Amino acid sequence: MSMAKAERYKSTCSYCGVGCGIIVQKDQKGKVSVEGDPDHPVNKGMLCSKGMNLHYVVEDKSDRLLHPQMRWGKSHPLEKVDWDTAINRAGAVFKSIIKKHGPESVAFYVSGQCLTEEYYLVNKLAKGFLKTNNIDTNSRLCMSSAVMGYVKTLGEDSVPIAYEDIELADCFLVTGANPAWCHPILWRRVESHKEANPDTKIIVVDPRVTQTCSLADLHLQINPGTDETLYLAIGRCLIEQGDIDLDFIEKHTDGFEAYKEIAMGTSLEEASIICGVPVSDIKKAASYIGDAKGFLSLWAMGLNQSAEGVNKNLALIDLNLITGHIGKPGSGPFSLTGQPNAMGGREVGGMATLLASHRNLANPEHRKEVADFWGVDEIPAQPGKTATQIFEGLEDGSIKALWIICTNPLVSMPDARKVEAALKKAKFVVVQEISNKAEAIPYADLVLPAAGWGEKEGTMTNSERRISYLNKFTDAPGEALPDAEILLRFAQKMGFPGFDYKNMGEVYAEYCRMTKGTNIDISGLDYDFLKENGTVQWPFVDKSKGGTPRLFTDKKFYTPNQRAQILAAGPKNKTELPTGVLPLILTTGRIRDQWHTMTRTGKVSKLNKHIPSPFLEIHPEDAAERGINDGDTVLVNGNRGEVRVHAQVTDKIKKGVVFLPMHWGKILKNDFARANNITGNAIDPVSKQPDFKYSAVQVSLYKKP
Ligand code: SF4
Repeated sequence: MSMAKAERYKSTCSYCGVGCGIIVQKDQKGKVSVEGDPDHPVNKGMLCSKGMNLHYVVEDKSDRLLHPQMRWGKSHPLEKVDWDTAINRAGAVFKSIIKKHGPESVAFYVSGQCLTEEYYLVNKLAKGFLKTNNIDTNSRLCMSSAVMGYVKTLGEDSVPIAYEDIELADCFLVTGANPAWCHPILWRRVESHKEANPDTKIIVVDPRVTQTCSLADLHLQINPGTDETLYLAIGRCLIEQGDIDLDFIEKHTDGFEAYKEIAMGTSLEEASIICGVPVSDIKKAASYIGDAKGFLSLWAMGLNQSAEGVNKNLALIDLNLITGHIGKPGSGPFSLTGQPNAMGGREVGGMATLLASHRNLANPEHRKEVADFWGVDEIPAQPGKTATQIFEGLEDGSIKALWIICTNPLVSMPDARKVEAALKKAKFVVVQEISNKAEAIPYADLVLPAAGWGEKEGTMTNSERRISYLNKFTDAPGEALPDAEILLRFAQKMGFPGFDYKNMGEVYAEYCRMTKGTNIDISGLDYDFLKENGTVQWPFVDKSKGGTPRLFTDKKFYTPNQRAQILAAGPKNKTELPTGVLPLILTTGRIRDQWHTMTRTGKVSKLNKHIPSPFLEIHPEDAAERGINDGDTVLVNGNRGEVRVHAQVTDKIKKGVVFLPMHWGKILKNDFARANNITGNAIDPVSKQPDFKYSAVQVSLYKKP
């Protein structure tokens, strides 16, 4: 028997938004191994623990969904069916529900892990042909406040920096983020830069002492939810120190006078009390920023996942604007994306409020442009329901059918028991998934097995606007199909024209054409270029000119008058304040070696060893008041539910604050470790992003019944 040849492919890590390049080797027996791509501009050969174990996830197919499954009635078990039967059923049910209740009665809930082509197709299908804007993504839980922060200040959802700015900065403000664990390779670049340039200043803002703090020159351990006050207080110091760029402010911005009034009205003494940090530290942070030639502000979910998420983003971006640290080397606001393709999804309009090519659903001209491009009569004007609103729609009956693609809402959505109740009420639920462990499967009427990373081709965009092509290097198990193929079969079954692509390259080419003349123009790009030349940063208009590492170098912003907007609202916490009964503030987050709801990283024993079980971080004084010792099993109670985990008593968390990791779902058929039993439905009024960082709870010693 002749052996197959060893093969080598390039791809991109499918976990966080850093977007590390990977080389996949397949030996003669088909065994897969991965290593960091030494030529990749993002990681230069490095991989973190999650990335370097990706091959285990590819090879372990023990939990994979292999065949479509269908329920003939709500009380019937799931039964294996063929693809034609499954797609026929989906088509028949969607047609009948839309005929009876209108297009607003169906919805799609997708994922920042979908490839750009998949995102594009599902949005074209929903908004262009099914005539519903009810398509949202789990990126709503992750980046939507940052998106609105950029839109309001810079005119569009445009991360202005390139990773190469890391090596050019001499001051970093890392706030609401733990990149040492959650964006490890990017953080390794910061570490190396600091090692080579010890005068580089790193300020970390976090209620917890995280791994990121080990590199900090200054840790501002603020009280949760007080970020805006802190940034305004720093802004005041910068103004008083004379460390603002008046020339830039005058020539390229609006709103400084109003900002100045709010910042100068922020008393440092009061800010110190509100934030729980000394005045001297606020001043020190301002002096580090004021002295910087290159100032990068890095942030993630600690700001975005808040009922005040957009205002927190504005107040932070203001610090870059008033100091003129944008559009020049080593400077800029730099939001850290959680998911590998959250940005690619937004480019193709992958949210209920967006249209492809950064067009705006609320703009009638943009709707017409997109409708004309797709050859449809119109795009509906009514904004679609966002993530939490979709599940509320299931609950109140306004949404009858939901199609979930590549996301696990029963673990990742806030107020998980409400999501469970909503799915129970749905008339029809489709779950398109790779893993048979996904918690939504018991609620599904139709289960569609999807191909995973390496089993399909497509593109993704990382946190610095870098587009990469991902190779298919192995076949999906059983009858699993790429998500795009499933969507195309459904669209064709519905009788929609314009879904007869010969391959994914054609889908991408269509999207690239659509971007022509926009601020994210990639009309010069195609698969062949990406395969031959590697990754590029958008905009990419012309092959001879290449991509665009840094935006706004000409200081012309995407606002109508090309001036950046300095916007500041006075801080007001609209979330669930602690009470006598629920006196502690719960915040949630990630751990180093797990990814989201653990459907992939949870399969890798090496990764499970880092932190094998869920825990609650609690301050020693809070623990002592409750008679809790390290390792004790504790009950965490909130307004919506409870969680039972072991206590980790540590002075690394602020007194009055407790922390739960967000990864664990149901264990042994109980949901006792699921952090989102407790988190609430408060959302930011503008971005509609839920608040996972501020819920009132009580903690007590668990006594066995
Ligand atoms: Fe993957 Fe992110 Fe780790 Fe890079 S840093 S290897 S993209 S998980």
